[in-house]
Amino acid sequence: MPFKQLVFSGVQPTGNLHLGNYLGAITKFVALQDSYDCIYCVVDMHAITVWQEPTELTHTTREVTAAFLACGIDPKKHIIFNQSQVAEHAELAWVFNCVARLGWLNRMTQFKEKAGKDRENVSVGLYAYPNLMAADILVYRATHVPVGEDQKQHLELSRDIAQKFNNDFAKSISARGFGDAFFPLPEPIIQGPATRVMSLRDGSKKMSKSDPSDYSRINLTDDAEAIAQKIRKAKTDPEPLPSEEKGLETRPEAENLVGIYAALEGTTRAAVLGQFGGGQFSTFKNALVDLAVAKLGPIGTEMKKLMQDPAHIDAILADGSARARAIAGETMTAVKDIVGFVRS
Ligand code: ATP
Ligand code: MG
Repeated sequence: MPFKQLVFSGVQPTGNLHLGNYLGAITKFVALQDSYDCIYCVVDMHAITVWQEPTELTHTTREVTAAFLACGIDPKKHIIFNQSQVAEHAELAWVFNCVARLGWLNRMTQFKEKAGKDRENVSVGLYAYPNLMAADILVYRATHVPVGEDQKQHLELSRDIAQKFNNDFAKSISARGFGDAFFPLPEPIIQGPATRVMSLRDGSKKMSKSDPSDYSRINLTDDAEAIAQKIRKAKTDPEPLPSEEKGLETRPEAENLVGIYAALEGTTRAAVLGQFGGGQFSTFKNALVDLAVAKLGPIGTEMKKLMQDPAHIDAILADGSARARAIAGETMTAVKDIVGFVRS
């Protein structure tokens, strides 16, 4: 049975939204609106897998919503909401906790990275995070998921969970009239020159909200001066830029900045090197500052404006949640029947 094409993705309200979130995820969210029905979620339940100060969490949830709006996501044509307002995410996640295998979760590199050496002391939620992510997507039976490169492994796990559910309950699924598969196998959409934006301080680490150094990232709310300072201070090597992509292979910091430029400009790395290759790094960095300020400045301004009216943001989340609940509710009813839960 063919599934209706639907896009789902989420962003955690865990701190400052940055250029990596923007280029790896949010710009894709915006572009996909023309060709698909889209559901974009502020995943507050994922956020609390690591400690969040309650008043901060509320603020950041609104700020991520403001970023979605400021970047051009249309909350009327599509759906914007926060995860905790749709209880079906947690309900389906429990079923998936019972479908996914420990061995699968043990392979997840994000858990290993985030737990670090203190594994005994992190939350159970951090470990089960990918099962909730599978539920986020599949509770809408979404078919396409735009994410950054770092989420590729979790997407693969979502597919494995969907597949195992379809296999384990095959008889019940077909008996209930859902054909040979209840869940689609969701496809990741990971494309373009900036699917993994790296830290400005360390070309081997991804740019992240949770990095303690603010100089490691460009925040969507940074002003022109902060953007300029961070790019000028960004780690590089002493060589001039190469003229061909091959010359970037062993130069992660240079490769990162070229990728950022290409993504912001909507072009390829090769084209950027065609323009700046052989020239001084400082010339390229100055051009990157101008480009980043031109693209991000208006977004930051709009976000700040939207944040002055939290009631308006909350109303958008309430409306989106009601519409999301209608879809998720239908899925959960079917899942309960398939699993054999008695319901009234
Ligand atoms: P945290 O450190 O709290 O996990 P994060 O920066 O990884 O924060 P998320 O909310 O986990 O942000 O991810 C939101 C989206 O942004 C995901 O699709 C993720 O793949 C993407 N993303 C995150 N960091 C980057 C990056 N450095 N480059 C490209 N995409 C990224
Ligand atoms: Mg993350």
